[in-house]
Amino acid sequence: MTVTALVTGAGSGIGRAVSFALAADGHKLGLVDIDGDRVEAVATESIGRGANGVVPIAADVSSEEDVRRCVAKITDHLGPPTATFANAGIEVNGPAHEFPLATWQQILGVNLTGVFLTAKHVLRALIDAGVGGSIVCTGSPSAFVGFAGGGNAAYSASKGGIIALVKSLAVDYARHGVRVNAVVPGSIDTPHLSIGIPDAERAAHLEGLERSAGTQIPLGRLGRPEEVAEAVTWLLSTRASYVTGSTVVCDGGLTARSANDF
Ligand code: NAP
Repeated sequence: MTVTALVTGAGSGIGRAVSFALAADGHKLGLVDIDGDRVEAVATESIGRGANGVVPIAADVSSEEDVRRCVAKITDHLGPPTATFANAGIEVNGPAHEFPLATWQQILGVNLTGVFLTAKHVLRALIDAGVGGSIVCTGSPSAFVGFAGGGNAAYSASKGGIIALVKSLAVDYARHGVRVNAVVPGSIDTPHLSIGIPDAERAAHLEGLERSAGTQIPLGRLGRPEEVAEAVTWLLSTRASYVTGSTVVCDGGLTARSANDF
């Protein structure tokens, strides 16, 4: 069955891979990203891969006016989004005792408020249309564990908030036929892994990540965005019809592993 899907952060990485997977299944796509050129490019490629209509929108998920406009435009052109991937996210790290309040607010604003606003306006559209649906939100292992690399306070707090939000929404909206779940990607090979790394140092940085993935991630490598897309498209589909309020961890065993050898 063809559904209308809304994907935020669709211009890159995991959101892009999920958009292409949904396109290949012939769904209608509302694609949202802060980068207008990138989301247009993903929209064009999605049509080529089989999408049954695409609406690309440049918008900032931390702005309620932007999110309201996105959901209204997608609903007008493609119908209410019964499959939503609230995924856009950013990461800035630094020691908490030196962390600027403005950066904390920016991270919480995009990662947590952005997911809340996306869910809020999608839920309203679904209730208005009298239909159920599925919402998947992107968490992170840092919602559950502190990383040895450190400096992760704001990002971790935003992702921990998403896991709590998902459970609360799942309970509240089950009676409306809306399922709400989280996907937890581990270290996935996307531009996100190089945020804050100067261009000249990027190749060496990625090489270092690949090397440490070999020893620290039980499956011995970084993940691919397409592997996360498999979990997301399953959660979005009716194949996951009895799954709500859950967290699907797609991290190669990263969070299952203790650093202790005994
Ligand atoms: P990515 O390749 O950087 O893609 C994220 C996309 O979201 C980018 O196109 C980004 O644009 C866009 N975006 C940023 N702020 C936005 C905003 N305010 N409104 C709308 N779009 C915005 O990263 P990714 O790896 O696919 O990450 C997707 C999600 O997975 C994020 O929530 C991230 O926290 C989470 N995650 C990723 C990993 C990983 O290892 N990759 C692990 C755990 C969780 P710009 O590039 O212009 O910022």
